[in-house]
Amino acid sequence: MNTARHLVWLRADLRINDNTALAAACADKDAAVACVYAITPVQWQQHDVAGIRVDFELRTLRALEKSLDQLSIPLLIIQTDDFSGIPDALSRLCEKHQITAVHCNIQYEVNELARDAAVKQALASKGVTFHSHHDQCAVTPGTVLTNDGRFYSVFTPFKRNWLARLEAGAIRLLPIPIRRRHRFAESDNIPAAIKGFDSHVTSDITLSWWPAGEEAALERLTSFVEHGLKRYDEQRDFPELTDNDGVSRLSPYLAAGSISARQCLNAAFNYRHQHGSTKGVEQWISEIGWRDFYKHVMVGWPRVCKHRPFRLETAHIPWRHDENDFQRWCDGQTGFPLVDAAMRQLRQTGWMHNRLRMVVAMFLTKDLFIDWRWGEKFFMQHLIDGDLSANNGGWQWSASTGNDAAPYFRIFNPVLQSERFDPKGNFIREYVPELQDIRDKSIHQPKPSLLSLYPEPMVDRRMVKDRVLSHFRNLPSLTA
Ligand SMILES: Cc1cc2nc3c(=O)[nH]c(=O)nc-3n(C[C@H](O)[C@H](O)[C@H](O)COP(=O)(O)OP(=O)(O)OC[C@H]3O[C@@H](n4cnc5c(N)ncnc54)[C@H](O)[C@@H]3O)c2cc1C
Repeated sequence: MNTARHLVWLRADLRINDNTALAAACADKDAAVACVYAITPVQWQQHDVAGIRVDFELRTLRALEKSLDQLSIPLLIIQTDDFSGIPDALSRLCEKHQITAVHCNIQYEVNELARDAAVKQALASKGVTFHSHHDQCAVTPGTVLTNDGRFYSVFTPFKRNWLARLEAGAIRLLPIPIRRRHRFAESDNIPAAIKGFDSHVTSDITLSWWPAGEEAALERLTSFVEHGLKRYDEQRDFPELTDNDGVSRLSPYLAAGSISARQCLNAAFNYRHQHGSTKGVEQWISEIGWRDFYKHVMVGWPRVCKHRPFRLETAHIPWRHDENDFQRWCDGQTGFPLVDAAMRQLRQTGWMHNRLRMVVAMFLTKDLFIDWRWGEKFFMQHLIDGDLSANNGGWQWSASTGNDAAPYFRIFNPVLQSERFDPKGNFIREYVPELQDIRDKSIHQPKPSLLSLYPEPMVDRRMVKDRVLSHFRNLPSLTA
């Protein structure tokens, strides 16, 4: 009898635990299985994928290759410039190895869905079946709907429904597949780097902050659950506490898929079961809920993938496109210490604390009144956890163009945010060395006389609110 040969096309799901597509491909215990990963540099450039994210993914693949090898599953690599080359490359691979079925986990972005439709068609013409599975969200998009069958655009009722579903059916994690008895290929070499995707972060920071792979992700989760989860609600807004498990720092692992949202929730639910409900654990579950929420929104309103605002009327806002001001924001030279420390954290580590993402995004879109799409793009180009739905959701929240966004009249004051969330100025001192000798509260708004190297504030905050209100108040009313 000929052994069936299946292929798993890995994308944002680089793990062997709890991987729906991998489990489905291995359901026939006699089937020989291979995995494949597609390198598409031109597409990545078009999608603004950061060099540090590519580096993280390559390192994750190297760890994954070892785990797959234990299961006698080779990891193959194909390379084409962009998505348009994938149908042909996969068809040829299937032909070469006599593969009859391809499995993958769905990515919900518009271009990715179009790519998969083209692959399905190309494979069908060769007699290869294509199976796409829901896996990326804890609860499948399209199953959490309002009473009249629509996607939720507001988080709180979404979360209520989402959580009820999770609590009703216990979270079932899929086991690691059993070792294959037959193997039909050897693994390909995983490149050390991809031309055009140099990481902007030094390798010592990369390796100490971001060890790659499934094992590293699980260690991060365990450490956070042990040390951070209980007091997450109290600590999550203080960037200084990041190293002390103030937040989980799991976002790069979730974005690459070296851990699943279900695994995270399962750990939180187990904690809740053992220790009872605490504000910390409930808040963290809620944050994973935001991740699911923005993916559901992307499925319900795909225009958010196409640089369009969720609130259609805000397309009329005459955002500024001032390159000099934008550059000062990018460089962390705004003269607002918390904003500058945050932007420098992004440049130095490839990551930024959530509170700071809100502060700098609000500063760019409200204080400078610069187009949120510029900030969204810059973030993608520098984040190790760059993820279209979460990034777009965060930017549209801050710019007040999104669903359930910050009201346009609620504008963060970066000095007050600094006093509140970095009260001793320790985070600022870490990233803005020009200010490290300022020991008192004036670090939040240094007096010009104290400074020689640090810039003066680039914007007069007294005119910020008027400008924002004047543009938002007079928008035509449009509904989606
Ligand atoms: C302007 C802006 C841009 C953002 N861009 C991204 C992005 O590209 N990729 C990304 O993963 N997150 C993004 N976020 C959301 C959030 O800032 C990060 O997920 C979080 O800082 C990651 O740190 P953590 O893993 O320690 O999070 P924790 O606080 O430990 O939360 C656990 C997980 O929940 C999810 N999560 C938490 N907050 C949010 C949120 N507001 N929206 C969606 N998911 C959330 C993440 O997957 C996170 O890893 C953005 C937020 C803003 C305001």
